[in-house]
Amino acid sequence: MVRPAYRTRSRRIVKRRTPSGKSRSYYRRRSSYRAFCAICSTPLSGVPGSLYAVRYRGRTEKRPERYYGGVVCPACLAAMLKLATRSL
Ligand SMILES: [Zn+2]
Repeated sequence: MVRPAYRTRSRRIVKRRTPSGKSRSYYRRRSSYRAFCAICSTPLSGVPGSLYAVRYRGRTEKRPERYYGGVVCPACLAAMLKLATRSL
């Protein structure tokens, strides 16, 4: 069983083979990441790529200030809004 402190998505699992031939899993801190669109999975702009930036920046600096900002890209959002409006 893994340590409770390691049961988090903020750490990534790195699998390494030791000199004795055994395979081990190491839980490393993520240094940076990239936010992707939830629909088309293109990289999102306007979202900082480092955990440090997310921690110390203001709320409005962390993602675009619009509906689904930081979750869905502008093209997909436009398509969603169009679909929602036309289905009314
Ligand atoms: Zn998209």
